[in-house]
Amino acid sequence: MSTTEQRVAVVTGAARGIGAATAVRLAEEGRAVAVLDLDEAACADTVAKVERAGGRALAVGCDVSDAAQVDSAVARVAAELGPPLILVNNAGVLRDNLLFKMSEDDWDTVLNVHLRGAFLMSRACQKHMVDAGFGRIVNLSSSSALGNRGQANYSAAKAGMQGLTKTLAKELGKFGITANSVAPGFIATDMTAATAARVGMGFEEFKAAAASQIPVQRVGEPDDIANAVAFFTGEQAGFVSGQVLYVAGGPLN
Ligand code: NAP
Repeated sequence: MSTTEQRVAVVTGAARGIGAATAVRLAEEGRAVAVLDLDEAACADTVAKVERAGGRALAVGCDVSDAAQVDSAVARVAAELGPPLILVNNAGVLRDNLLFKMSEDDWDTVLNVHLRGAFLMSRACQKHMVDAGFGRIVNLSSSSALGNRGQANYSAAKAGMQGLTKTLAKELGKFGITANSVAPGFIATDMTAATAARVGMGFEEFKAAAASQIPVQRVGEPDDIANAVAFFTGEQAGFVSGQVLYVAGGPLN
């Protein structure tokens, strides 16, 4: 195995959805993958898929918004799998509500998981990347970063992910580390299924309505995002940094 093939990736929120697809995709690229999520047992399915794709894998239970848990999770990955040189900050939650009904807890939870989580994970992993003179960080933003009704908390967090990305690119570039952001549009996962349920629509009807507004006339699948993440984490993408790639089936206004 070459040095390249042995690189270790950490994907947060990888028990399901976009994170799970990304973990498998990175294994197909020859990476070892730490599958990190709130509940370690829930990572078993993704771990099995990573191993079937040929990658070494480790399930890690961790709340990304908790600094002590993040530091010990990253230390465990380094000890058991190898130094994490690729980081995909994907863990996420929704607490949608119109501003006048949004609680402080709704605000704090969303900002803490997405933005504080990405900060803590990036801070913990960068030491290993700097030592290696190589690193790839990909932060999951969203089309909601441009503003979305009922998502004051989420759109602020996802716009924050873009500012964090550009700053990491500027600070860490001289160590061979790139930072980029992938901003998905509508992707069919448990997250969008939960939104459909919240607004009282069946998921199929909800997806069809979304697809009719998307230029390519379909909703996205987790693999659509995993493919974009794979590009940014690739060995050949070292001159691409500080970018935000909207993966939404068309341009956004
Ligand atoms: P998902 O299916 O809901 O998966 C999110 C995963 O993150 C879950 O496994 C969840 O664990 C985990 N997670 C939540 N809080 C965490 C924490 N504090 N620490 C560690 N893990 C945590 O969501 P998805 O649709 O795949 O979305 C993945 C990312 O893409 C998110 O950042 C999301 O905002 C972004 N995104 C999604 C879409 C879309 O249309 N789906 C569009 C734009 C952006 P539990 O199951 O235990 O809660």
